[in-house]
Amino acid sequence: MNKYCLVPVLLLAAGTALAQAPAAPQPDNAKPEAPAEIRSFDASAIDKTADPCTDFYQYACGNWLKANPVPSDQVRWVRSFSLLQERNRYLLWKDLDTAAKDPKTALQRQYGGFYAACMDTATVEKKGLAPIQPAWKLIAEVADANQLPNLLSTLENGGTPDGFFEFGVGVDQKDSSKQIAAIFQGGISMPDRDYYIVDSPRFKAIRTQYVAHVTRMFTLAGDAPEQAAKEAAAVMEIETALAQASTSRTDLRQPENRYHIYTLVDFEKLAPAFDWGSYFKAIGIGQFDTLNVATPSFFKDLNKLIQTEPLDSWKSYLRWHVLHGQAEYLPKAFFDENFDFFSKTLTGQPTPEARWKQCSSLTDDALGEAVGQDWVKENFPPAAKDSMDKLVAALEKSLGDDIKTLPWMSDDTKKAAEEKLAMFRNKIGYPEKWRDYSTVKVDPKDLIGNLHHSAVYERNYGYAKLGKPVDEKEWGMTPPTVNAYYSQSFNDINFPAGILQPPFFDFKIDPAVNFGGIGVVIGHEMTHGFDDQGSKFDGKGNLREWQTADDRKAFTARTDCVADEYSGFEAAPAKGDTPALKLNGRLTLGENTADNGGLRIAYMALLDSLAAQGKTITDKIDGYTEAQRYFIGFGQVWCQNQTEEVARQRVLVDPHSPGKWRVNGSVQNFDEFGKAFGCTKGQPMYPVNSCRVW
Ligand SMILES: [Zn+2]
Repeated sequence: MNKYCLVPVLLLAAGTALAQAPAAPQPDNAKPEAPAEIRSFDASAIDKTADPCTDFYQYACGNWLKANPVPSDQVRWVRSFSLLQERNRYLLWKDLDTAAKDPKTALQRQYGGFYAACMDTATVEKKGLAPIQPAWKLIAEVADANQLPNLLSTLENGGTPDGFFEFGVGVDQKDSSKQIAAIFQGGISMPDRDYYIVDSPRFKAIRTQYVAHVTRMFTLAGDAPEQAAKEAAAVMEIETALAQASTSRTDLRQPENRYHIYTLVDFEKLAPAFDWGSYFKAIGIGQFDTLNVATPSFFKDLNKLIQTEPLDSWKSYLRWHVLHGQAEYLPKAFFDENFDFFSKTLTGQPTPEARWKQCSSLTDDALGEAVGQDWVKENFPPAAKDSMDKLVAALEKSLGDDIKTLPWMSDDTKKAAEEKLAMFRNKIGYPEKWRDYSTVKVDPKDLIGNLHHSAVYERNYGYAKLGKPVDEKEWGMTPPTVNAYYSQSFNDINFPAGILQPPFFDFKIDPAVNFGGIGVVIGHEMTHGFDDQGSKFDGKGNLREWQTADDRKAFTARTDCVADEYSGFEAAPAKGDTPALKLNGRLTLGENTADNGGLRIAYMALLDSLAAQGKTITDKIDGYTEAQRYFIGFGQVWCQNQTEEVARQRVLVDPHSPGKWRVNGSVQNFDEFGKAFGCTKGQPMYPVNSCRVW
């Protein structure tokens, strides 16, 4: 399934979906079980032998970390996110299972049928490779490289994954009232370009294993071993060339590095070996004269590659993308081989998730606003929305106060920042208007057919936006999602119902813990509006400088401080010949800035809230001061264990720091922490010099 990530959104957390295809089916008989309640403040998680002033993360999480290794069907286990995701998914499964067995409404027939097709492994086995054979036949029939645009459009029109590049419609970065065509680099199968090009023993070994995996997949599909090996070599050659042509994730963080408006005529001159005009016509998007070519150098290189690679190599490459893109939905032999390389080897996951979990996630991906309608009725009380409105208002006030007192910013820029803040919009819980999926054909006996229909629906939904005004009410996450995001082009903050539950948000707990949980989440998303990327967009969501030149210089000096600081943190320890790996402070700069800002402004909001109740930050509950409960509540959101493989993978692909540094990096940049725990200036969590942006 193609995913068009054309509107940059800044998330609270990235799932492993970043690194691999969505969760997928695997036969097994595991019975779903209701997960236990998640405590918002867990005194038993605290490691009292650790000194909070030396390593606060170890103090807040130590006992939990010891008692909660990564389960065998996961690669990462986070006290807040993972436990709540499991709970939400279980509740989602109850809706799906009921609807699959006894649908009462048209919606239930649709999502129940989708889920049922996914669970029906007997039919998946019986069909074998039949669902992908029509696409392979089309590829086999191509006789000339000039036919590639026609082939690609035919595959995409049928919902079949292909490769090459990503294309879709997104908001114009410089005019957020417009939605324009945009084309991005793409076409590789491993998680990042570094897997293809970095010259280290670890990546060399992975590349060898990848080629062996591609060979085995083709062999499983019936190709003779020598033919399979030849095809795998062609796949590797083309994907390596595409990786070399790609811009790094870190460079793509700069909005100006992914914004290059071309006329269609000029774009065709940039890459004339591919007939773009007929391709765009054939995929059924409306007419356009200009488009954003996010990474022009990629298309220049792709052009050369189309001219120089033999047609047979392209055909192998396309056969691979059809097979690999759907491997998880094919019979068990293909699923297992795919899991073995992409999950076991690359991420260290020992066993696949139970099938009911995978099929629940897959249905949420494809029809999230269908099943979500029923899910929120059962799991999201209206009172939660009212409380969130109040919390968001409290955080907005804090951020406004913070801006007013910033020591490094001139009055003119402060005024502009306040204007942007006043234009923030927020969306809480779920959409006011649900998406209409009635045209998505669902057959309870045809998993891959359903996925094709869903892919075509998503694609057409996107294409229909071309030239239309932006729909401000649209959501980028489904209701049960445990996450939140800020959108630069929409200048809005978004909190799905899925995260507005314990341990983030708890009606039964004291305010300090809620401010440390959901309060910091809200502050984090708001700060994204002012991080290294967000600060380049104005209140209307347009890429436009609103800081004075001097203030931008001061801002950059401060973000440099954060980037250098986090670049010194170790993300994965040395193992054998493989050296320790440091964080990429540039890739994670926006998230770290948001974590630091969120912790500060939620604390300020807590002070206001306590003052309004006649309380102070030193009052105690169960032996901890309000301030200590706030910081422990925050720290315990991020307690996490993960496999060594995924720790290394995330350094390359995840703009978020690992839990330890989300906690320790944030508290060591905030003096109130050291004061709350009686630390001595100069201790690791209460340093003499620290970084501060907001
Ligand atoms: Zn974020």
